[in-house]
Amino acid sequence: MIKRIQSLYIVLLSALLLALTACSPLPGSSASSVEGALEVHFLDVGQGDAALLLCDGASMLIDGGNVADSSLVAAYLKAHEISRLDYIVCTHGHEDHVGGLSGALNTATVDTVFSPVQNFDSKAFRDFVHYTKLQGNTITIPAPGDRFSLGSAQVEVLAPLQDYEDTNNTSIVLKITHGSVSFLFTGDAESLSEEDMIEAGLDLNATVLKVGHHGSNTSTSYRFLREVLPEYAVISVGEGNSYGHPHEEVLSRLRDADVTLYRTDMQGHIIAISNGERVTFTTQRTAKAPTNPTEKAPTSYYIGNLRSLKVHLPTCTSLPAEQNQIRFDTLDEALKDGYSPCSACRP
Ligand SMILES: [Zn+2]
Ligand SMILES: [Zn+2]
Repeated sequence: MIKRIQSLYIVLLSALLLALTACSPLPGSSASSVEGALEVHFLDVGQGDAALLLCDGASMLIDGGNVADSSLVAAYLKAHEISRLDYIVCTHGHEDHVGGLSGALNTATVDTVFSPVQNFDSKAFRDFVHYTKLQGNTITIPAPGDRFSLGSAQVEVLAPLQDYEDTNNTSIVLKITHGSVSFLFTGDAESLSEEDMIEAGLDLNATVLKVGHHGSNTSTSYRFLREVLPEYAVISVGEGNSYGHPHEEVLSRLRDADVTLYRTDMQGHIIAISNGERVTFTTQRTAKAPTNPTEKAPTSYYIGNLRSLKVHLPTCTSLPAEQNQIRFDTLDEALKDGYSPCSACRP
């Protein structure tokens, strides 16, 4: 009797196992090519870009924010016990991208350092070159079409496709593919570089788009967005920045394309994790922040100029230098203190 029950169990178990193997992997699933997860950390570096990618023990840092973010970047790497980076990518020469890379180069040894140029006339870039050389390393200028692996993820260099005059368009554009999930990093590439990528017939489709140029209306054209067709987008941008980023036009394009938006100015560090089939997001704070509301949110604060006694919206293009700024929670408070509204931004 006992023997009978045992063999029945075995039959049932084998049937169950057969059923399980028949169910997975799903047809068309590419999970088999993926070993571990791909983590993409979009660091909150204020008005700048910095992203740390980790996959199967391999690591890549794309940009490092401003010079002032050097210690933040270094601390973030230390907190994640990263003393060696496989790749550092400086997308282009502007300080809000290259500045904090010195912090990374001071903390971690780097195998390959990518940049679109060897020289750029700024102290931030010269420091980046200095710390690269201090490691006995040189700068590699990647070419479109170059591919390399990051653990089980594949990285492809898409742009720049030409020698552009405008520094933003010199941005290295990378597509990272992990199973059926992909990320597109465009640096500050503007519509001219976007057009060239479309004309070149590149496969721009991506699950997650790091929105170009901090959400400026010079980037993320309708045509480009139609090619990328992202499910998610991340804007790396500083709260109350003087450029008015992200611009309403870009937010509206992303709304029209039904893209779920994350923003570092509202949510702090943003971490996207891919298992090769789908992406999940966690944020440092305010996970449910209204990142792309249809109605413009009321201004939460005002900036006064201590010298001219004018009060501005934080998005005004003529904000005073930082040392001459005073913050007010309400407009009334500013008016009571003798400040008069700026005629340009009309708070
Ligand atoms: Zn930038
Ligand atoms: Zn730039």
